[in-house]
Amino acid sequence: MATQLPLGPQDLAAISETDDGTKAFAPDLAYRRLSIVNVIFYGKPSGNGEWVLIDAGLPTSESTIVECAENRFGENTRPAAIVMTHGHFDHVGSLESLSRRWDVPVYAHSLELPYLRGEASYPPADPPVGGGAIALLSPLFPRSPVDVGTRLKALPEDGSVPGMPGWKWLHTPGHAPGHISLWRDSDRTLIAGDAIVTTGQESVYEVLTQEAEMHGPPRYLTPDWESAEQSVRLLAALEPDLIISGHGKPVQGAHMRATLHRLAAEFGEIAVPQGRHYDRNPAKPGKSGNDVYR
Ligand SMILES: [Zn+2]
Ligand SMILES: [Zn+2]
Repeated sequence: MATQLPLGPQDLAAISETDDGTKAFAPDLAYRRLSIVNVIFYGKPSGNGEWVLIDAGLPTSESTIVECAENRFGENTRPAAIVMTHGHFDHVGSLESLSRRWDVPVYAHSLELPYLRGEASYPPADPPVGGGAIALLSPLFPRSPVDVGTRLKALPEDGSVPGMPGWKWLHTPGHAPGHISLWRDSDRTLIAGDAIVTTGQESVYEVLTQEAEMHGPPRYLTPDWESAEQSVRLLAALEPDLIISGHGKPVQGAHMRATLHRLAAEFGEIAVPQGRHYDRNPAKPGKSGNDVYR
């Protein structure tokens, strides 16, 4: 196994947890962990009811997400939009049902759209590279695309994020062709999706303990390690103060940042699995973003 980059208690962001399991880590940011993956709620609970859901959890997550949203933002609330960091199964599980229920637009990077409108599937998972049970089960993960139809929209080309004033989206490919991260410069907050994750995601033990560590993207579903490395470098160069990723707890502060820089500098040794079969010929999307994955 590659080197681990442990994070300690001093790196964890302060959180306040509500009865439904939602954890607030900033006045306008909260997350709910759905067994293996996080969804994020952007918006102030005391605000004007404007909020955005980032990612959509597992197929069984719909009622939990709705309950947490209503507890936080009020009965029968619905978001201004759903923003997708990428279209992997553990992030799109309840996307079709939630977007239909709320009748709201779904925003994603243009290269990710084919996976969200039923046109393309991701390349097969790469189980030997991850190590551990989750990695070995990964061929069973559904790869077939969801289809959110006409509610699906490409993120604005000017980098703005609908419903999230003050935020920019950044293209951070590698783990998925149209993977994005969200960045707020005013307080250096980063929503990293799976470009960086803050816990080991490859084994059942790591998923259960959620021990804080700085990782590159989950190994078994990352087809393009060169792009993944560039994306981590880009995110490290932002000097984020607070990071929430798709897996793991929110982390913050100077030591976290130094650890992120180490991940970026030693990405090949730390993050990239040995013996990966994509290394010489990384899977890249075709011209329309879907050719090679059909
Ligand atoms: Zn993913
Ligand atoms: Zn994920």
